[in-house]
Amino acid sequence: MRTKSVKLLQLEILNQRTMLSDEDRKNLNKYQIGHVGELQFDSVVEMLACPVVHLKDYRFQLDGYGARDKKVGNEPAEVQIDNIIITDDQLYTFEIKNYQYDMEYYADGPWRFAGGKEIVNPMNQVDSHRNVLTSLMKDFNMQFNLSANLVFIHPEQTIYNLPNHPNIYTRSNLNKRLKYLSKPNRYDYSRFVEMLDTRRIFKSAYHSDANVTFEELAGGVFCADCANSRLRRMHRDKFVCDECGEFSTQVDILKQLVKELQTLNSSWQLSSNKIAKYSGNTFSSATVRRYRHKNLIEY
Ligand SMILES: [Zn+2]
Repeated sequence: MRTKSVKLLQLEILNQRTMLSDEDRKNLNKYQIGHVGELQFDSVVEMLACPVVHLKDYRFQLDGYGARDKKVGNEPAEVQIDNIIITDDQLYTFEIKNYQYDMEYYADGPWRFAGGKEIVNPMNQVDSHRNVLTSLMKDFNMQFNLSANLVFIHPEQTIYNLPNHPNIYTRSNLNKRLKYLSKPNRYDYSRFVEMLDTRRIFKSAYHSDANVTFEELAGGVFCADCANSRLRRMHRDKFVCDECGEFSTQVDILKQLVKELQTLNSSWQLSSNKIAKYSGNTFSSATVRRYRHKNLIEY
């Protein structure tokens, strides 16, 4: 399972319940495309004949990293790595870029949009991951062959001048190269994964509450999976999404509504009245309270 980022979830909810600005719409599109690219990578990994250790969206705190050897640390305090894969007793990281636009690769200078402006070298992020992971391995007293990689997963993207770079994968060579490097691990890494989990953070310091007030949100009940589909009530406890055909019960929807409100703003005090209003009065506050008393929803 790969979960959507908080920013993506917030924008999806806001897209259903407010008018997005052009900037927000652009970001929503960007995050959605990014998420789709990550899911595509996951399915390639799942298709590998050989089981690998695969950690997704590994976000961790840098414990004193940067402060140890330097007077002034310039590294970020937390890092997120899209994929950590252990196979053949080696550790790989893969950052997924689902860019549709064409680019030009330069070995000794900044990359460019095809025929255009310079872009920040995508390898910088990958290099920084190698450094922070090396430091984390030291903390854990682990030794690994470590390889940090970039995957350009969009099938229609062209990167001009790209040599056969050991750390840059493209859609056309991804399957073949992953197959080639995936071999059974000789050692068990469950203890190591536990150690990584102790450093894992689920709520990023960079995640902030959405910049919206409760009053600005349109009420209603929407499908969690479809962009703008309101749920239709079939009878008292059965709703359907006409777009994907998924059925939900009142409890399913109430849980979803609470989750959405908490995703938008973790400091909002929720009440049965507020949730009823957010549901567009699909549910009365008495109904919300009843489900809470039965411990079927929590807020
Ligand atoms: Zn749906």
